[in-house]
Amino acid sequence: PEMITVQELASRMAARAGDVVKALMKMGVMATITQSIDADTAELIVQEFGHRVKRVSESDVEIGLEGEVDDEEDLMVRPPVVTIMGHVDHGKTSLLDALRHTDVAAGEAGGITQHIGAYQITTARGQKITFIDTPGHAAFTAMRSRGASVTDIVVLVVAADDGVMPQTIEAISHAKAANVPMIVAINKMDKPGANPDRVRNELLQHEIVVESLGGDTQEIHVSALKRTGLEALEDAILVQAEVLDLKANPTRDAEGVVIESRLDRGRGPVATVLVQKGTLWTGDILVAGAEYGRVRALIDWNGQNVKTAGPSVPVEVLGLSAVPAAGETFTVVDDEPRAREVAEFRQRKLRDKAAAGAMAGRGTLDQMLA
Ligand code: GDP
Ligand code: MG
Repeated sequence: PEMITVQELASRMAARAGDVVKALMKMGVMATITQSIDADTAELIVQEFGHRVKRVSESDVEIGLEGEVDDEEDLMVRPPVVTIMGHVDHGKTSLLDALRHTDVAAGEAGGITQHIGAYQITTARGQKITFIDTPGHAAFTAMRSRGASVTDIVVLVVAADDGVMPQTIEAISHAKAANVPMIVAINKMDKPGANPDRVRNELLQHEIVVESLGGDTQEIHVSALKRTGLEALEDAILVQAEVLDLKANPTRDAEGVVIESRLDRGRGPVATVLVQKGTLWTGDILVAGAEYGRVRALIDWNGQNVKTAGPSVPVEVLGLSAVPAAGETFTVVDDEPRAREVAEFRQRKLRDKAAAGAMAGRGTLDQMLA
């Protein structure tokens, strides 16, 4: 049967182990923090703590958490989170830059000053879209393997003069595996050799059927260089977002994912996070992977200090104890002792894993020498 230790369960809920022991006692189950309980009991505890249970697989003890259950009435429409993928040199960076310049809010804030690997634009009609600039497909895959789904929509960029290439195919398979809808942006339409017909047919060979061929994948013609077709692309994204009916509760404690992180010489550990649920406030205590800290400052994609970040908003977080890995999820907790306990447990687990790896390594070396 599936089993989980009390400590592990507490860690996954970002709860204190002592509180889980107490809750178990109330249910008539006596267990210390190192003892294991079965999945059914764990499920009851998880619900008791106000979380939703998600059993991922049968063999593993996988009581993943989707966080607290939100009331339907608390759910509000949130902006779509979009990732741009495609073959190298097909214009991903150029397109992200061009889209960024369509932001009507950027002008008000005093221009485009800083790039944090993610940004949000406000379209001419006042709708918001979040773009994530993942450094290549690797980050996307890493996040997915950690179970974190970051993106709602993939924009697949294909250069009109080059067509479907190896990384285009890779991007298609990532999007399919992640079950994320795709919009095709045929870029470099300004070039003399532009041939969208060819692109359409090549996509067809990979089971991407665009609307003009009777399929349901939107196809938009753009030029990142000449900045044409950008509004149409934004409209296509917003249409897709409406179909997806994207909602989140902005009034709860924040949860989300780390999209990039680094150690800054002056500012210490800096993590760019995407808030997926709730609202992140300065002063909040958060656990990100095996690290924690009190949010000292939140900085948006224009380099402006902000007090809060709601659903679908990317923001830089200062104040963490160390640098969390990209792809780790973060969660806001009630107090610092709880944060420390969760973080320390996760660190211990990482060390155990590393030690187990080293042991395995030694085993093979011994065998090789034998
Ligand atoms: P990435 O590798 O996918 O990020 O591609 P880049 O954005 O770096 O673009 C690769 C090259 O294509 C650069 O030299 C761009 O100036 C050029 N490029 C990008 N978009 C367009 C476009 O719409 N038209 C033309 N003519 N060139 C473009
Ligand atoms: Mg690039």
